[in-house]
Amino acid sequence: MALTGLQIYKLLPQTNCKECGHPTCLAFAMKLAAKQAELALCPYVTESAKAQLDAASAPPIRLVAVSCNGSKVEAGNETVLFRHEKTFYHKPGLFIRVEDTLGAEGIKTKVSEADSYLVDYVGIKLGVDGFAVEAVSGDGAKFAEAVGAVRAASKKPLILIAPTPEVMAEGVKAASGTQPLLCAADESNWQKMAEIAKSAKAPLAVKAESLDKLAGLTEEIKKAGVEDIVLDPLAYGYGDSLKTLTQIRRLALKKNFRALGYPIIAFPSNGAGVDETVLAAQHIAKYAGFIVLNTFDPATLYPLLVLRQNIYTDPQKPIQVQPGLYEINSPTADSPLMVTTNFSITYFAVNNEVEGSGWPAWLLVADAEGMSVLTAWAAGKFDADRIAKAVKSTGAEGKINHKRLILPGQVAVLSGELEESLAGWEIMVGPKEAVDIPNYLKVMWGEKAGSR
Ligand code: SF4
Repeated sequence: MALTGLQIYKLLPQTNCKECGHPTCLAFAMKLAAKQAELALCPYVTESAKAQLDAASAPPIRLVAVSCNGSKVEAGNETVLFRHEKTFYHKPGLFIRVEDTLGAEGIKTKVSEADSYLVDYVGIKLGVDGFAVEAVSGDGAKFAEAVGAVRAASKKPLILIAPTPEVMAEGVKAASGTQPLLCAADESNWQKMAEIAKSAKAPLAVKAESLDKLAGLTEEIKKAGVEDIVLDPLAYGYGDSLKTLTQIRRLALKKNFRALGYPIIAFPSNGAGVDETVLAAQHIAKYAGFIVLNTFDPATLYPLLVLRQNIYTDPQKPIQVQPGLYEINSPTADSPLMVTTNFSITYFAVNNEVEGSGWPAWLLVADAEGMSVLTAWAAGKFDADRIAKAVKSTGAEGKINHKRLILPGQVAVLSGELEESLAGWEIMVGPKEAVDIPNYLKVMWGEKAGSR
């Protein structure tokens, strides 16, 4: 938990020497508390005070990464319980479980299919983040073969799940050159698992049936030299996993309980009588860092990916597209020119309707700070001046041989002002809803064949 200015002041030398550039130690402490100054500016702070201040400024939930061939999944570093308080930073990684008993061909098929799955959601590419290879066989050689088969089919990060340190060691060898998450150390084997994690420089998951035991284990493992730890609280039902994961997040953020200040791994298919997709959705919202799915099914994965994208979007920053002039269906100089804002959902709604209609068109996307048409207009971010500037700055005039601009129907009120800003232009008022654009183009812009 962050220290207050007064708590920081008590750790400073209190001599008011001014060498830090502040008139008093208290003034410097206040700046430190507001994160507007660096502790290094005070040359007289003692080592023990420095250690306490450093510890207090460390993130309450450690950032842990797994990586492979340049792809990385990071979890942790979260600072709030509720997204509306600020934002959530690191999307939980979605991993597909692959059992080593599946055989080389079975692994290849499952991994290749999931690996190549990529969907476009408002211009963002969404897909699975990696694979969790599980040594169901309990055989080190078989586990290593399975890890090799997964790596041959995908370059995405790995989680290695093995029942014993001996089997885990074989998997780690087969995953050399990557940074997998090792899953999991428990009360009976943590010393050996920690040794393996330390020499592989890999993060280590820790499992225990109570939070007390889990906290005890993380402290021991940290003392053994493993800093990157992931928690598996073995909670599998809807209610108990929600309660347990929330308790861990609260203890880390509100009580600054370092022993549980790590990301959490969740297995939504491990509980009896639960629906994997429903529980995975719960884990996305509260509070998993890594989620292992048993099955790969685009029909259930897609809603999870979209949910995750929305929850992990900064509520203060709308999803935006780059302002500019976009071509739809290979437009010519005769094609219509339409204008909209750079709010992603608005852009894609318009783009999809025009694209689906088959009409070639130019779409001018004005910088409205990521707001939708009406909101931007009300906020003064989508006015005649901005639209006129967008027409000029994008070189739209040079691409068309007419001077007609189609304005969204919701801001018809701007048409007169826009005709003044764009001298010699005819401002046409388009439909209010994107769904009506194809019919509008057909009726108002003439027959398709004639305008191409
Ligand atoms: S340099 Fe250190 S001791 Fe001097 S005023 Fe600043 S905080 Fe106080």
